Amino acid sequence: MAVDIGSKCDEKVSTFELNVLNTKVNFRIGIKENQASLADIVPLARTICTKICNIVLQNVNSNGGKIPCRKNCSAHCCRYLVPLSVPEALRLKKEISEAPPEKRELIWKGCLAASRHILINKPPRKLTHQSAKVSSNEQSDLNIISNWYRGLNLDCPFLHKNTCTIYEQRPLACREHYVTGSARGCEEEHAATKLLEMPLYVSNALGQLASELEGTDVEAVILPLVLSWCEENKKRAEKTWPYAMMVERLFKIIKEMASENSGAVTI
Ligand code: SF4
Repeated sequence: MAVDIGSKCDEKVSTFELNVLNTKVNFRIGIKENQASLADIVPLARTICTKICNIVLQNVNSNGGKIPCRKNCSAHCCRYLVPLSVPEALRLKKEISEAPPEKRELIWKGCLAASRHILINKPPRKLTHQSAKVSSNEQSDLNIISNWYRGLNLDCPFLHKNTCTIYEQRPLACREHYVTGSARGCEEEHAATKLLEMPLYVSNALGQLASELEGTDVEAVILPLVLSWCEENKKRAEKTWPYAMMVERLFKIIKEMASENSGAVTI
């Protein structure tokens, strides 16, 4: 399987091979010589994520498993905590600002209402102290915040009439979230569904890349607070690095994560 990403004749092309559950995927990536921001690496991360997920889904299907997750499903999972890596947060803000005015307004209103709901419902101390930021490498923090968030029973602000309004730009955490079982199982609080574990989470690799480039902890931004977080972190959207180095490093992190994770994905 070959994936061509923006390789034009005047660009240097880098190739990477991923082996996902014994299926080889060859990426040919057009590397621009110019600098790029954290947001600029997100389309590549989305493509890698989609390729990995598709292979995993095909594998489940060919083994007789059923996956009810699809666009315009019951959106039951769209009430869970969705953490965004820093590059995704910056990219989503940019994409929202380029959306048509009515859509932008709908999203701003949704995020504002959700942020109010979050802030008046006694968030865990850590969240109050660190704005929208949690340390995603501290699993206990995430569990505390995740359980608290479930208790809010809050629809995702990007969900409108049970449809994701940013489906093509949705976070990696949403793209990597699948269950096996029946759609009815989702309605019944997942009694008959099981979370599908991915061999590798590109969302984690992207978070790791941003942390290395910026010299920060690995951070996660809570989806409904993304716009206010970006307002507070405008300067981080302006920083740039050589794109070729970012791409090389992203694949290297994926390789390192894969080798720690039973080798279901290799490079
Ligand atoms: S971004 Fe879209 S897919 Fe993700 S939780 Fe929100 S509505 Fe659901």
